[in-house]
Amino acid sequence: MSATTINQTKKLPRRTKVTNTANSTPADFTPRIVVIEGPSGAGKDTIVKELINRYPDRFAKLVSVATRAMRPYESEGNPYHFVDNATFDQMVASGDIFEFTVRHGEKRGMSEKYITDLFAQHKIPLKDCDLVGVRALKSRFNHVTTIFITADKAEIARRLHGRGDDPADITRRLADYDRCVLDAPYYDHVINNENLQKTIDKILAIIYNDNYGKQ
Ligand code: ADP
Repeated sequence: MSATTINQTKKLPRRTKVTNTANSTPADFTPRIVVIEGPSGAGKDTIVKELINRYPDRFAKLVSVATRAMRPYESEGNPYHFVDNATFDQMVASGDIFEFTVRHGEKRGMSEKYITDLFAQHKIPLKDCDLVGVRALKSRFNHVTTIFITADKAEIARRLHGRGDDPADITRRLADYDRCVLDAPYYDHVINNENLQKTIDKILAIIYNDNYGKQ
């Protein structure tokens, strides 16, 4: 399976103010992005939903732009911002889409506009992102914290069964687990998601007390 990845670099102005807690006022807000990555079944979606449920004014999911056809049960923004091929290409040409992949002719990428829209609402975009995407984000934005969520492989197998995944899908996802965890050391933080509430607390501590990770 071939994938082409394109990065463009342009740093946004640096801001130095640090926000201390998720309850801080918008005046304290510093634009930042938090990447939540990890193997399938580790709990990424659950964590992102929990952060948004707890702090709907502070966190939002960053949605990618995609050219694939919308399925009947999908809608604009869920799970992608759906655009046609010409619009996608125009967004790349204008520099708005700064990282994208092409797979089987379908394009998917990250748009700066959707990130800055969330910043304007004083929200922290949450995004799952491989290392190529992380590099693109860190080239483009000053405050990017990357967190790798993991769990024991046997526990992941239990969770995928519990989630009701198709058995063939589970086999494929478990095979991918070994490759995926090799990336863990390249993220700023690694959290073993044994207990959801503890994981959420650790993430909040990282975001608000750790000066945006190790960058
Ligand atoms: P991912 O998005 O990483 O593929 P999900 O968030 O869909 O993973 O979680 C996979 C399954 O594991 C879900 O059924 C979810 O409810 C469950 N889960 C998530 N975190 C935990 C946890 N800390 N302990 C037990 N089960 C969990």
